[in-house]
Amino acid sequence: MSDIAVIGLGDMGSALARALLKAGNTVTVWNRTASKAEPLLAEGAVWADSAIEAARSSPVVITCLMDYAENRALFGDGSVLAGKVFAELTTGTPKNARESEQWALGLGARFLDGAIMATPRQVGRPDTLIFFSGSRSTFDDVEPLLKGLAGNLAYMGEPVGSAAAWDLAFLSYAFGGFMGFLHGVRILESEGIPVDSFGHTVADAAPAIAEMVRYEGEVIQEERFENPESSLKVCYLGAGLILNHANEAGIDTQFPLFFHDYLKRGIDAGLGHLELGAMVKVLRESREVVLHG
Ligand code: NDP
Repeated sequence: MSDIAVIGLGDMGSALARALLKAGNTVTVWNRTASKAEPLLAEGAVWADSAIEAARSSPVVITCLMDYAENRALFGDGSVLAGKVFAELTTGTPKNARESEQWALGLGARFLDGAIMATPRQVGRPDTLIFFSGSRSTFDDVEPLLKGLAGNLAYMGEPVGSAAAWDLAFLSYAFGGFMGFLHGVRILESEGIPVDSFGHTVADAAPAIAEMVRYEGEVIQEERFENPESSLKVCYLGAGLILNHANEAGIDTQFPLFFHDYLKRGIDAGLGHLELGAMVKVLRESREVVLHG
């Protein structure tokens, strides 16, 4: 028997298995493409011939692949998971987590959903964050084992969708910021300014940006949009400048056009005099369904 089984040895699954080995655990691994296990076997991991065999080997089973439903299918009828802790660390939605929890509980397994807020390189570091949600007692039972994965294992609550909700909210923030970063690169390039220090400058300014985000979060929670620090109208004018510049400089207009039109919806709704966070009122009213994949 091993302490833990890791199923899925892509970039992230391999990093998880390696961190668990480094923390002194015995680790059984399985991956569809067996060759990806070789470096880990050299570091002391034990190979299993199937996901079912890997699960049989350990009281705690982690999956980190690409799709919750496909992951469940790897366990056949699932009976091998009875009495075990099944921790799903694949990125997913709250609904994915709820479906897997229901499936696992129906098998007599215990279930946790996890969301990794790090790149593979960052796994195992003291400041690395992984969100977990699901049964509190299950989390408490496996936390000592899983702490090799990240210094910060954050329990987000019994509703099992919580970890995925936090993860997607953070990803939305990060991806939105990165879209703006890439457009910023093109602004600098259009003036012949080297961009290699742009990331450093953004990092230096991160506390100020974080303060703005914290303020807007409180404003939205308390519905306190009057007497704005940054009114929607002022931000809309700024977005218009970025759009005008893109046209002047002959660079891609898609991002500034999107953001300008997005804020215009708030202006058209008569929210211009309110705090920027009042845009959430527009978003609460709208719902367009576009499914990915
Ligand atoms: P990779 O593309 O490196 O690995 C994908 C893994 O999924 C491989 O083990 C692959 O097997 C396996 N896989 C895919 N489809 C199937 C299938 N149908 N049956 C069996 N195995 C399958 O991705 P990552 O490791 O980077 O990502 C894994 C998860 O970790 C994702 O949910 C991702 O969002 C999450 N994550 C990743 C981060 C990152 O920075 N990489 C950051 C935070 C979370 P095979 O090797 O045989 O192809």
